[in-house]
Amino acid sequence: MHETGNQINLAACFLYMNNNGMEATLTFAQGLDLQDPLNEMRKDFYFPKHGSGEAIYFCGNSLGLQPKNTQACIEQELKDWRELGVGGYLHGKNPWLYYQHGFAEQMSRIAGCETHEVTVMNTLTVNLHLMLLSFYNPEDRKHKILMEKGAFPSDQYAVETQIRFHGFDPEEAIIEVGPGEGKKIIEEEEIIEAIEKNKDSLSLVLLGGINYYSGQLFDMRTITEEAHRCGVVIGFDLAHAMGNAPLDLHEWNIDFAVWCSYKYLNGGPGAVGGLFVHERHARNINHPRMGGWWGNQESLRFQMEKGFIPKADASGWNISTAQVFNMVSLKASLELFEKTGMVQLRAKSELLTGYLEFLLGDISHLSFEIITPAQFHRRGAQLSLFFREKGKQIHEAMTAAGIVVDYREPGVIRVAPAPIYNSFEDLYRFYEILKTIL
Ligand SMILES: *Cc1c(COP(=O)(O)O)cnc(C)c1O
Repeated sequence: MHETGNQINLAACFLYMNNNGMEATLTFAQGLDLQDPLNEMRKDFYFPKHGSGEAIYFCGNSLGLQPKNTQACIEQELKDWRELGVGGYLHGKNPWLYYQHGFAEQMSRIAGCETHEVTVMNTLTVNLHLMLLSFYNPEDRKHKILMEKGAFPSDQYAVETQIRFHGFDPEEAIIEVGPGEGKKIIEEEEIIEAIEKNKDSLSLVLLGGINYYSGQLFDMRTITEEAHRCGVVIGFDLAHAMGNAPLDLHEWNIDFAVWCSYKYLNGGPGAVGGLFVHERHARNINHPRMGGWWGNQESLRFQMEKGFIPKADASGWNISTAQVFNMVSLKASLELFEKTGMVQLRAKSELLTGYLEFLLGDISHLSFEIITPAQFHRRGAQLSLFFREKGKQIHEAMTAAGIVVDYREPGVIRVAPAPIYNSFEDLYRFYEILKTIL
């Protein structure tokens, strides 16, 4: 909506940074906030309290903050239920019968895909299982799954149990890639080499778009090209990428992707998850899947007849009736994404992590290193600080001082300034407190 205006203003932010050199001062940070057109959006969110003031919140990679319009959106659905009863399915303000439809446009802009390639349903790990049931077709020789070493536990459990479900041995069938000895990030070349080397036995590649621990953003386009060249299906878990990194899922030709909505999308705890199925699969109603009436052709849904005929789009993977109260908070937060867009959010995000990196450079000799790649195209909004020792205690001291960040074993404190509500002043205050703690 305000694309051009905001781009110009964010350019002003860049200029301000360059002309003034960067300074580790409150005045400089506030100067950046003044140039930042997205600074206004802070007011659209509730910040958790700390003492008589507000906490410094850098945990949007775990649970995004509550938008102020969420309550009104929930109340709208309560009202329709109260006043219309079952009539809400057809006559509610947002008819529940077609509730998912309302998400496709907004989600397609964030995911970089066509509206018929995206849907919302269930939660992340459930969707991952459903996608694996659809896309993992192991054969005797070709049955292995390649994934990143140290993938998020839920993803590991999903893959392990799927492999067993098909009668194979996870020990033998899972190929894990990097990071190499003493390294914290995985080079794309290592992934590509591993795909090439194992192509005859590989059935599927599953990677996180952004690694939850290191904050590393993968070159999804190149890895996908390589997987396809080797005749291997590829899916991504975008839990940490959706609403954070620029995505072009359709152009990148990814087979499928799943994500949750409670991290950068600010959909609230346990909010409905999302799903991308590339149109070359989504259009194929014969593609294997688990059926349910919500994925059936809508005109036939209530004819109660035998024979599942899926919709010829991603929502052909829907199974159950729309979980309205699990979806409405995402609907509310997507309205805020419509006020800006991924182009602006990404521009600001780079400025935020750039400034944070500059501030931390001043004190990192004190006991930590930033393990997230320094290049912008290899990271999202998160910087992971690796503490060789006392990471946990330092995290506790941060919490006591009103900083909300999280700690992940081994030794990492994840700091994730979300461009939609965090400010440069937040970063400066964080830096001051951390300096004192160290
Ligand atoms: C957050 C996250 C999950 C969480 O899965 P749920 O099914 O929503 O509990 C799974 N995988 C990754 C990579 C995550 O970052």
